[in-house]
Amino acid sequence: MIDFHAHLDLYSDYQEVIAEITKRKLFVLSVTTTPSAWRTTSDLANGNRRIRTALGLHPQIAHLRYSELSLFDELVDQTDYVGEIGLDGGPEFKQYWDIQVNCFKHILQTCSQKPGKVFSIHSRKATTHVLDILENIPHNGIPVLHWFSGTQKELKRAIALGCWFSIGPAMLMSKKSIGLVQQMPRCRIITETDGPFVQLSDKPAMPWDVSIAIEQLSGIWNISNEEVESNIAKNLSHLVMQRDKLKTIF
Ligand code: MN
Repeated sequence: MIDFHAHLDLYSDYQEVIAEITKRKLFVLSVTTTPSAWRTTSDLANGNRRIRTALGLHPQIAHLRYSELSLFDELVDQTDYVGEIGLDGGPEFKQYWDIQVNCFKHILQTCSQKPGKVFSIHSRKATTHVLDILENIPHNGIPVLHWFSGTQKELKRAIALGCWFSIGPAMLMSKKSIGLVQQMPRCRIITETDGPFVQLSDKPAMPWDVSIAIEQLSGIWNISNEEVESNIAKNLSHLVMQRDKLKTIF
């Protein structure tokens, strides 16, 4: 199973979580919210081939951490994965909108010189703006929209722009999201949890709770859980191949 968006460093018992990831043979993309969290978070995965660590600057805290953009630039060569990045258009973050936009653009601009990055992107209430920026900056990477919550029209545009989608159990509890997932190309979907931010039955989501998303997808696609799992695994290997190809083209 694959959790392509988890905040491992934010679990209080992260050592146990990592041991369980290994035991259950999961693959996990461990995203970070600040460049200064990169070192310790990637150390958590040290030697564990099942965990990849992404370098990020979360849009909800961009106004507190934009001074770390230079650190982002320093560290970016150490990983193929960039996230969590993006924009949040929620009313509580509106006053920091310009800072968010500057940070997101800066990161994509830096990455345009480093082809083959895989991005895990937050786009809550800001899908059109995220797509505008992705369209205008030649990032030379693969955008994965995490927890896509835009409109059908925005979804069509995201697909046309080559975006992938990581989807999780919390997202699939909404009828609107299920409608969106039905329109997403099955070859560009990966599972995620967004744990521990996401709560499932009053407990933080754990990486292996992607099994719930697999079950939900099995219902949506009308195929078995095993078929969903092998589809998602195939998608991840295609994503990695596409990433490696981008590195050689540019
Ligand atoms: Mn997240």
